[in-house]
Amino acid sequence: MGILSGKRALIVGVATDRSIAWGIAQAMHAQGAELAFTYGHEKLKDRVEPLAASVGSQIVLPLDVTVDAQIDAVFAELTSRWGHFDILVHAVAFAPREALAGDFVESTSREAFRIAHDVSSYSLTALSRAAAPLMAGRAGAILTLSYLGAVRSIPAYNVMGLAKASLEANVRFLAADLGPKGIRVNAISAGPVKTLAAAGIAGFRKMLAQVAQTAPLRRNVSLEDIGNAAAFLCSDMGGGITGEILYVDNGFSHVGMSFPPATEG
Ligand code: NAP
Repeated sequence: MGILSGKRALIVGVATDRSIAWGIAQAMHAQGAELAFTYGHEKLKDRVEPLAASVGSQIVLPLDVTVDAQIDAVFAELTSRWGHFDILVHAVAFAPREALAGDFVESTSREAFRIAHDVSSYSLTALSRAAAPLMAGRAGAILTLSYLGAVRSIPAYNVMGLAKASLEANVRFLAADLGPKGIRVNAISAGPVKTLAAAGIAGFRKMLAQVAQTAPLRRNVSLEDIGNAAAFLCSDMGGGITGEILYVDNGFSHVGMSFPPATEG
């Protein structure tokens, strides 16, 4: 019996087997959860379906989070297939590529700002609104993914840092609103992981190297690290935790200064 036995989870944000959402799906499956998936655009359908099948899921639905009609369709389908469910994982973010390179001031257009906030933050509000009725009377849990750029400036992360700051505020407001209905809302602020979305950030490999050299645990996080933390937070073992931003980053965010190995000693 896993800590998620008897629970049903909708996973939004699997693009590949390197996606953080896939790490979370695997951990939740290992802990006994029944899963449903969405894919962001048609080209990903053929990639997500076999991944879903490998964890015993037959529910794979299209969902562009910027389209309200698609959100309605996903939850209508879940209502007819499941009736109710327990866990929503939101692992979605996007900003135009040109906004994730160079100086923040120069690269942040009004349109890039709008898109980044719509896809990466507003979508959590929209999905939570649609999910809440299906979580009624259950110990519901909503989880999203943030990054240190929400609270510190990070080279090239630019407008996505602002969108993550909005996302983290979103978590707190949703937690306050949905708490009386028994629904918890949390975020994991994950250390950098090489995924499709991360590949769009200029200099991402340098970020990985910096963390491996200077984080207290001297390594980058794995999908398993993030997945296990997600499974715990969304299980009844995390039942007293809501509105929280949990750092799963090998301690990187807690260090004010650290010397790379070559200069240590
Ligand atoms: P990923 O595998 O590329 O996943 C990003 C997902 O966002 C994809 O499934 C993508 O689907 C989806 N997406 C983008 N626009 C969408 C839209 N309009 N509608 C529906 N889905 C959309 O990258 P990831 O790194 O795992 O990202 C997952 C989450 O983790 C993001 O919130 C990211 O900011 C966060 N995070 C990542 C890192 C890291 O270093 N990788 C660190 C901390 C936090 P499509 O490709 O179909 O659009």
